[in-house]
Amino acid sequence: MNIHEYQAKAVLKEFGVPVSNGRAIMQASDAEAAAKALGGPLWVVKSQIHAGGRGKGKFKETAAGEKGGVRLAKSIDEVKQFAKEMLGNTLVTIQTGPHGKQVNRLYIEEGSDISKEFYLSILVDRATARVAFVVSTEGGMDIEEVAHSTPEKIITFSVDPATGVMPHHGRTVAKALHLKGDLAKEVGVLVEQLYTAFVAKDMAMLEINPLIVTTDNHLRCLDAKISFDTNSLYRQADIVALRDETEEDAKEIEASKYDLSYIALDGTIGCMVNGAGLAMATMDIIKLYGEFPANFLDVGGGATTDKVTAAFKIITADPNVKGILVNIFGGIMKCDVIAEGVIAAVKEVGLQVPLVVRLEGTNVALGKEIISKSGLNVIAADDLDDAAQKIVKAVRELR
Ligand code: GDP
Ligand code: MG
Repeated sequence: MNIHEYQAKAVLKEFGVPVSNGRAIMQASDAEAAAKALGGPLWVVKSQIHAGGRGKGKFKETAAGEKGGVRLAKSIDEVKQFAKEMLGNTLVTIQTGPHGKQVNRLYIEEGSDISKEFYLSILVDRATARVAFVVSTEGGMDIEEVAHSTPEKIITFSVDPATGVMPHHGRTVAKALHLKGDLAKEVGVLVEQLYTAFVAKDMAMLEINPLIVTTDNHLRCLDAKISFDTNSLYRQADIVALRDETEEDAKEIEASKYDLSYIALDGTIGCMVNGAGLAMATMDIIKLYGEFPANFLDVGGGATTDKVTAAFKIITADPNVKGILVNIFGGIMKCDVIAEGVIAAVKEVGLQVPLVVRLEGTNVALGKEIISKSGLNVIAADDLDDAAQKIVKAVRELR
């Protein structure tokens, strides 16, 4: 689960992490009061969307145009003007995809005078099964580009969970960032605060880009991006409360209510499959035959008719779906349950697009019988290869 920058900064502030003062607003009419409360003389008006690269992003609408999703304002009038230009408009960044994201919230911050910009992130490293730090002197810009062209400028190390964070970790970061004296001490404290926050809040990733040295020689986290481990949300009620559902795909939210593993994609063929591996293989074979899947969906091992109906509804509600492929291997899941779920769903929501069903495994004969007796216009398939070719052909015939 992701949260906005302003929320991330509030979480970090609880652990003593130095961040700028700021005010989040949702209406342009609140910009003036926020700017006045912060005082100036410099403000930063920051689009709050769940995507990075906002500074270099571009608005689709011409008024805000090429000026980006993070702008420095030198007067209250400028803050008001930028707020008007950004709110409600669509920001396209390297991470949003070409559709961009609508900006519904802004964070107005006290502007900082920057002397240096660094990169610091913390993440769970699967290879070492530890919490790892990634630091670089090359902050502010695209870290992927730094990793590609000057990998020696990125320093990483992991923390032994038996000891937790130690003073030598702080010294490693200070050395990597060429910080000495008071700043080296400050970075030692910061490393400890960030690690403590990371573990306490069950974060999966924490990225500070840039971490800056101000002109008066202090460290400050100027940007903060946090994603949390969804498996731990049951014990992080205060984090769950920060969820902004407008940033998430409505179909994915609906699927999560039924405990379905669903991810929306850009293609035209809706997939209903049981088992993550089979679901991946189904997506691959659709691509092999020249079309693209509209979603990943694993209905799970012990799905009920209700769950299957919900899954089918989510797939058919997607206007991009021009055909549906149901591919079930009945192991724990029984083919007759799937067949009943599909029929119940079709009766409820109707079927506007071709549907190919491939069933195999437990109760397969019963499942096929239920479908053939239903009178529905279903294209039966014998195996995965046959099913993929049939749905691709059916979708193409409609074009
Ligand atoms: P991102 O583009 O989504 O990563 O958004 P950031 O919060 O990182 O902001 C983009 C850039 O704007 C930063 O790398 C800084 O160079 C600049 N910026 C952000 N806040 C301030 C500030 O308070 N003062 C100054 N001078 N620049 C800032
Ligand atoms: Mg940034």
